Amino acid sequence: MEKRLIFDNQLINITISRLCHELIENHQSFDNSAILGLQPRGIFLAERLRQRLQDITRQKIALGYLDVTFYRDDFRRSDIKANATKIDFVVEGREVILVDDVLYTGRTVRAAMDAMTAFGRPEKVELLTLIDRKYTRHLPVEANYVGRQVNTLQSQRIKVEWKEQGAAQDSIWLVE
Ligand code: 5GP
Ligand code: MG
Repeated sequence: MEKRLIFDNQLINITISRLCHELIENHQSFDNSAILGLQPRGIFLAERLRQRLQDITRQKIALGYLDVTFYRDDFRRSDIKANATKIDFVVEGREVILVDDVLYTGRTVRAAMDAMTAFGRPEKVELLTLIDRKYTRHLPVEANYVGRQVNTLQSQRIKVEWKEQGAAQDSIWLVE
């Protein structure tokens, strides 16, 4: 198994800062905005973004977790495990920023929009992803905020390691 480092800890940090500044540019006050991290892997990034946004803006930023398992169009095709949905803000009328680590076919995001609608009708929905796997979409889904576009083959995978999951350092790898 060949592994190539594409983001080290420092670059992840810089990228998260840049993404936060893009979010601030577009949202200004986050009074009516909320971050929604997609379970299971988007929540680490969502937590980082929230923390950094709070540090910069000195404002409290709403954050929730969304599990899309039961809304997936391929739900019956595998034994995907369900995670917790935790949303303690009103979705109705909000500007929601969906957050995930990797965007690939777009099916997860499609399912997320479906799952979210059960909680209300947002005013606006945006998508933020750390890694956008290029030319791999099965659905017309694109992210508003992108950490980095990476050209990948179907046989390759992006490995995202977070300190919260026991890694020594945050890092992102391209795995053959
Ligand atoms: P999609 O639904 O767009 O095909 O895939 C996106 C979802 O699957 C995300 O939740 C993401 O965590 C996961 N995913 C897809 N491809 C990769 C990958 O190469 N690496 C990682 N870490 N996750 C992936
Ligand atoms: Mg605003």
